Amino acid sequence: MEEDKISILKEPVTQIKGVGNSRAALLNKLGIFTIEDLITYYPRDYEDRSRIKEIRELEDGEMAGFKGIIASTVIESRPRRGMTIQKVLIKEENASITAVWFNQSFLKNVFRVGEKYIFFGKISKNYNTITVQNPVYEKLNNNGSMEKVCRIVPVYPTTAKLTQNVLRSIIREALEVAAHELVDSIPDWIRKKYNLCHIQYAVENIHFPKSDEDFRHARYRLVFEELLRLQLGLYYIKNKLNTSKGIEFSKDIDIEDFCGILPFKLTNSQKKVLDEVIGDMESPKVMNRLIQGDVGSGKTVIAMAALYKAAKSGYQGALLVPTEILAEQHFKSVNELLSQTGISIALLTGSTGKKERAEILDKIETGELDVVIGTHALLEDRVVFNNLGLVVTDEQHRFGVRQRAVLSQKGNNPDVLVMTATPIPRTLALILYGDMDISIINELPPGRIPVKTYVVDDSMRDRVNSFIRKNVMEGRQVYIVCPLVEESEVIEGTSAVQLAERVSAKEFSGLKVGLVHGKMKPDEKESVMKKFVEGSINILISTTVIEVGVNVPNATIMVIENAERFGLAQLHQLRGRVGRGTHQSYCILYNRSKSSVALERMKIMQKTNDGFLISEKDLKLRGPGEFMGTRQHGLPDLKIANLYKDLDILKKVQEAAGEIIRHDPALKNFSFLFQEFYY
Ligand code: ADP
Ligand code: MG
Repeated sequence: MEEDKISILKEPVTQIKGVGNSRAALLNKLGIFTIEDLITYYPRDYEDRSRIKEIRELEDGEMAGFKGIIASTVIESRPRRGMTIQKVLIKEENASITAVWFNQSFLKNVFRVGEKYIFFGKISKNYNTITVQNPVYEKLNNNGSMEKVCRIVPVYPTTAKLTQNVLRSIIREALEVAAHELVDSIPDWIRKKYNLCHIQYAVENIHFPKSDEDFRHARYRLVFEELLRLQLGLYYIKNKLNTSKGIEFSKDIDIEDFCGILPFKLTNSQKKVLDEVIGDMESPKVMNRLIQGDVGSGKTVIAMAALYKAAKSGYQGALLVPTEILAEQHFKSVNELLSQTGISIALLTGSTGKKERAEILDKIETGELDVVIGTHALLEDRVVFNNLGLVVTDEQHRFGVRQRAVLSQKGNNPDVLVMTATPIPRTLALILYGDMDISIINELPPGRIPVKTYVVDDSMRDRVNSFIRKNVMEGRQVYIVCPLVEESEVIEGTSAVQLAERVSAKEFSGLKVGLVHGKMKPDEKESVMKKFVEGSINILISTTVIEVGVNVPNATIMVIENAERFGLAQLHQLRGRVGRGTHQSYCILYNRSKSSVALERMKIMQKTNDGFLISEKDLKLRGPGEFMGTRQHGLPDLKIANLYKDLDILKKVQEAAGEIIRHDPALKNFSFLFQEFYY
């Protein structure tokens, strides 16, 4: 290779025929600057113009192509000022169809009676007339080569003033001048083993595939490469973290002392996870560990054990949680347990009073405080630690990677522990948490009575209501969750505000009904929640603000309105709010949808309590929920891969990544695969 000759790939787009400064400016708007950007600007969709039908086979509403002979001159009408309509009759054997365009007077000079054309467009049929609106067309010639019809045509995300046709021809031109310069970054042995086509073939066929099969080959290759870069990049980061020097917490602090003060014995699964955590903490490497465990599996106690170890070794620990309610609950339980061991603990949230805050900040800075539990308030600049050694984040999917990093940077390579109740299939976890080691708690503490789940419709309302009343009379508490805060004209669904008004006046008159939703001020929310926790509210009506973490063991019924509107993983989280005490608990799902997918999802909820199983089914039926978004996880945007649809490819990628890592643990020969990877 000639070193000083820059590749045509890196040349600006203006090197392409037909691209002047104004088109270049439009391309720049799309993030396209170089020729390489152009040829890696992938279509968002395709129009299959490859199948040509007979006119009489055309169906109402479809996008379709057909050929025929021009049977009339172009007839123009002018229904109103500024608008003209062009119509032409097309015949083929005994069938005919009218093509219709708007404001395209020039067509009068295009079509000649008797010429043969191929058309492609949206078909509409009513009674005996059949028309095609605004079709693309191409004259049938004898050499058979077609550009616009008779093929699969790419559709790009574009911007005003840059038409699909123009963008297509620019990209086609770019491919012609530069595709051969593309160097394949995946080594031959991997390409062979995983049946990956060459990069040049892939790029050409992602834009202009000649068949479905070519397209599938091309896409498979490009998705594979994108995921491989990501997976190896994450591995690289993890590896770097593993080798950077962290804190060695004291081996003399015996975690058994901590276990001795617990009112219960750890489950085997908790023991195993705790061993892994303590192992990390005692080793000189920086711990970066994710604990996955279903709701109620007992993750908090692992966090407490780690905080105990950190504090007793002379370091400070921080526990970051997403809501104030959760922070308070954690503070209460951690404080009860750890204060008897002489560890000092404080709670810091957005509503901590000014004076108290100043005191706490001061004690964090001097090191007088061992453990701080708090919300986003912990991330503020004014929170300065004396000697931060351990950062624990609960319910991590609510925090981005960056927020985690902000807290870590307040210490000197502190150990990091992340806890999540969002069960994710392993394949996805390896990408979304690819920079972390993963521990899984896969059993619940003994003696839990599984929640009974019922799927009902409105006809059952009276029975459900009297069941609720009966339970409240027996001293239990009830959650009712609605998808909406206020009634909306756009989406149908039960609103929390209206439901609360209605039931406190009617169905549950005489009982204490509380309302909490995301549009309330934090202190209002807090005070309602507090009343529920204390037991002075019987029935809590809410939106999903209660989804995360709250623990009210006396609550035994979870009613979910419009359950069809929630993701399965979310329903599972909500259901996890009950079944925390000694009484039998119930989850009642109101389903208003008759769709077979909705019914199947409800059935899954009824059948299983296993969060991992549920999230896998959810993925299959619904696609990844919000928490799957790569952005939220701090990963770079994916250009072509889709973590949900491409799960099978991801599995192969992980296998390949494993092989690569075995051959070359430091990735010396593969750094090019993730050179653009940033973190
Ligand atoms: P999650 O994993 O959802 O955060 P928690 O840590 O809040 O679950 O634990 C749920 C409840 O189970 C708490 O009340 C906790 O005290 C209790 N718990 C945790 N571990 C055990 C155990 N090994 N045996 C009995 N109860 C336990
Ligand atoms: Mg928890």
